Amino acid sequence: MKFKDIEFNTYYKKYPDAKGYFGKYGGSYVSPELQVAMNEIADAYHTICKSRKFINELRRIRTEFQGRPTPISHLERLSDKIGTGVQLYVKREDLNHTGAHKLNHCMGEVLLAKFMGKKKVIAETGAGQHGVALATAAAYFGLKCDIYMGAVDIRKQAPNVARMKILGANVIEVTEGLATLKEAVDAAFIAYRNEYKDAIYCIGSVMGPHPFPLMVRDFQAVVGIEAREQFVGMTGELPDAVVACVGGGSNAIGIFSGFLNDPVDIYGVEPLGRGAEMGDHAASLTYGEEGIMHGFNSIMLKDDQGQPAPVYSVASGLDYPSSGPEHAFLRDIGRVKYDVIGDEEAIDAFFELSRMEGIIPALESSHAVAYAMKLANTMGKGSILVNLSGRGDKDMDYIIENYGIR
Ligand SMILES: *Cc1c(COP(=O)(O)O)cnc(C)c1O
Repeated sequence: MKFKDIEFNTYYKKYPDAKGYFGKYGGSYVSPELQVAMNEIADAYHTICKSRKFINELRRIRTEFQGRPTPISHLERLSDKIGTGVQLYVKREDLNHTGAHKLNHCMGEVLLAKFMGKKKVIAETGAGQHGVALATAAAYFGLKCDIYMGAVDIRKQAPNVARMKILGANVIEVTEGLATLKEAVDAAFIAYRNEYKDAIYCIGSVMGPHPFPLMVRDFQAVVGIEAREQFVGMTGELPDAVVACVGGGSNAIGIFSGFLNDPVDIYGVEPLGRGAEMGDHAASLTYGEEGIMHGFNSIMLKDDQGQPAPVYSVASGLDYPSSGPEHAFLRDIGRVKYDVIGDEEAIDAFFELSRMEGIIPALESSHAVAYAMKLANTMGKGSILVNLSGRGDKDMDYIIENYGIR
């Protein structure tokens, strides 16, 4: 099946199907006990997300608390410097409260928890970005928040650990195994299995078992809806291309969803890290194969034993051995092109956007900016809209220490 064979006005009704599949990707591969909990969330979501009360409350929060809509900025100086006539624009998710797009789905997930009568939210975090967004949402709604984090990550990410604690979250140190993200995921799932009557598990991207890829997409769609309207309002036309970085894939799905049905080229940018050898990158859609992990079927990077491969990227938010099932589907049907950007190019783009435009981007978002700059060099004219998923304050110390000022 190819993209042109799908009637795109029915795309959002058809995908995912009732069991959470985008073609062969997605689904729910969890223990029977956890399946009970997933069914409860799916049922609640299907009724609650349609209720006026829920929709109105989420809208109000987005305006009054998150500061939405976030603007689109025209990168005039950078476009002039590239000099091909192509105009670059960025959707400013760095200006969303807490400085990244993650709050879009965390506010939705915790509002759902509140409507379901839950008292607590549970999650794991690696670099701490998801933990901070969720702790923010939990504080706003007055729910308890348990964040599972590997002991190694707790030491590496002290500022985010402090943020979570200040926001009132309970940061639970996981010391098993290598004491990083994978062990934190396992610990959080075990806790959830024991506590699901009072708690809800909040996933940090468009991944995990059904209904999370669907729910997180719906909550992030606001980015694409706003961006399309704003871009047409500013320029009188659609962009020729839309670009976003892809870790789990939530910021990308958010902006892509506004343009899937349009004659717009869409690009997802994966981290090439230090290079194409296993262990040096996290470009799952580019180098991976089909497989099941963390409760869903998608494209993943596997080691010789078929286990999730070790991954690396300078951007910790992109360093995950798989991507959401909808991205695997959009790749297969040819609607989105996935390509890679390495550490060095991302660091260059980080400084370029800072110097030329006065916007310090997150290292994750810098991958998308780097790709857009390359694309602008190959296009004769036209426009490119980049999703600037977050701000780079969190990355500054690391960059100065490891790369110096460029
Ligand atoms: C977490 C994060 C990402 C990666 O997550 P996606 O689900 O792929 O969007 C990208 N950018 C920023 C700023 C992040 O914090």
